[in-house]
Amino acid sequence: MREVLMPQRHLREAAADAARRTAPSGLGLDSIHVRHRMVQRLKQAGLQDERVLQALAEVPRHEFVDSALAIQAYEDTSLPIGHGQTISKPSVVGRMIAMLMGGAAAQQQGHLGKVLEIGTGCGYQAAVLARLAKQVVSIERLKPLHDKALSNLQSLQLSQIRLIYGDGRLGHGGSAPYESIIAAAGGEDLPAAWLAQLAPGGRLVAPMVAPGGRGQILVLVDHLVEAGISRYVRSEYEAVHFVPLKSGVL
Ligand code: SAH
Repeated sequence: MREVLMPQRHLREAAADAARRTAPSGLGLDSIHVRHRMVQRLKQAGLQDERVLQALAEVPRHEFVDSALAIQAYEDTSLPIGHGQTISKPSVVGRMIAMLMGGAAAQQQGHLGKVLEIGTGCGYQAAVLARLAKQVVSIERLKPLHDKALSNLQSLQLSQIRLIYGDGRLGHGGSAPYESIIAAAGGEDLPAAWLAQLAPGGRLVAPMVAPGGRGQILVLVDHLVEAGISRYVRSEYEAVHFVPLKSGVL
């Protein structure tokens, strides 16, 4: 008799799982505690900006990856998002956004201002940026990923994000200038359009192929204006590993 009843118990559990609308029961990924644990680890690893940590704590990263990978969403690792692309590591997202927060315009305003992101991917970083910015314009060259990001971001109702399908090497002149520019793909050069669209006091951070062509490094550019004359000051940071910045759209 007990054996006959067992399947019914399982069915009830399955129905309860479905009603909770979460990934398989037991993962608890919707819990803020899972994200806080991730943020604590990032803090221990050296990410200090509390505003950035708070933004990372607020975005449900597991909703941006395939459900089969959701269980890994709060580990500090990049994960495949299809079409040969990846969602960036939380520590790198945090590091680059913290660098942007140190730009002159961002420091003055207390937020990132208007941000241009090149490489929307699944939209995760755009959602983090939106918590620290007035507006986010994010460009993706792969139509299926642009569409995926649209649907991922819909449920978060972030009205200050504008997603563009296009070649991010050209920036997005229509919304320029930007106080902050961030690239999630690394090329051999910094496209001229990015520098042209960077506001005075603005800061750009991007991965770039390292001098000598081996690996990538993070590059930071500040647009300074002294006595009415623009100056672009570039500095180089640690090695990183991003997907390549490509031209054109697909
Ligand atoms: N920001 C994403 C990372 C996506 S990976 C996140 O939150 O995790 C980088 C993305 O850059 C890929 O989707 C790739 O298609 C895109 N990309 C590469 N070159 C590009 C270009 N020229 N313009 C726009 N997007 C580009």
